[in-house]
Amino acid sequence: MKLIDPVVFVQDYDGIQIMKNIERACRVCYRSEGNITEDSYKKLLKNCINRGHESVLEHEKISVRIIADIGTYKDLTRHRHASFSVESTRYCNYGKDKFGNEIKFIKPCHIEEETELYKIWEKSLKDIEKAYVKMSDMGALPDQLRMILPHSTAAEYAMTANIREWKHILSLRTAKMTHPSIRQILIPLLLKFKEDMPEIFDSVEYDEEFPKEKYAKLYLMSEEDQ
Ligand SMILES: Cc1cc2nc3c(=O)[nH]c(=O)nc-3n(C[C@H](O)[C@H](O)[C@H](O)COP(=O)(O)OP(=O)(O)OC[C@H]3O[C@@H](n4cnc5c(N)ncnc54)[C@H](O)[C@@H]3O)c2cc1C
Repeated sequence: MKLIDPVVFVQDYDGIQIMKNIERACRVCYRSEGNITEDSYKKLLKNCINRGHESVLEHEKISVRIIADIGTYKDLTRHRHASFSVESTRYCNYGKDKFGNEIKFIKPCHIEEETELYKIWEKSLKDIEKAYVKMSDMGALPDQLRMILPHSTAAEYAMTANIREWKHILSLRTAKMTHPSIRQILIPLLLKFKEDMPEIFDSVEYDEEFPKEKYAKLYLMSEEDQ
């Protein structure tokens, strides 16, 4: 078995261009296209967001690919305006050569290594993997094998949402009451969005006490291909 940390790959977008495109669409409402300047999007977007005129944010979207535990996509796929493609435990047989005959699990960010709890967590996964590979060798199909996969199983999923939905998801899912595994992957994403599109994401609050050293690593999708 392999224990890995979660990672997030983000589409290589241009935040300023996204905001300018939203401004262009929004100005149709007031037929004020003639007022567009190099930085007119800043005031316009802030005004729209303050007034709750947020449908304009739906004109642009961003895609990410996440490698995290199954529990994270179980929660995130509840967001109905986002689109998902999720690694299927019905088709992937981790007992086969293609997957190195092993299951990847995500290290939990909220169970400290070297503790008794961690040892129990690790031991139970070893037992599960042993049973999974044995069942696979006996000819069990992924549909049968997945019945013993736990929440910690690593899975990759592609997620696309428009900017309005990202704002909504990030404000809900980076707050303290959200599961730590989700805060771990989404707080760094929110911080990137805040940096690249402050006029849209500045107002989104998040759990600032979540330990920074636990943040998932963020890569641009193009970097990953190199
Ligand atoms: C901390 C936390 C704990 C949770 N615990 C549980 C739990 O124990 N059990 C459980 O089942 N779920 C739970 N959820 C999931 C939650 O109930 C929502 O299903 C999930 O967060 C998606 O949120 P949403 O509906 O706002 O967002 P989206 O589906 O992303 O929709 C965005 C917005 O669009 C609007 N919208 C979308 N669809 C409709 C519709 N059909 N009618 C009217 N308006 C709509 C709403 O304004 C909504 O906020 C939890 C979520 C959080 C953040």
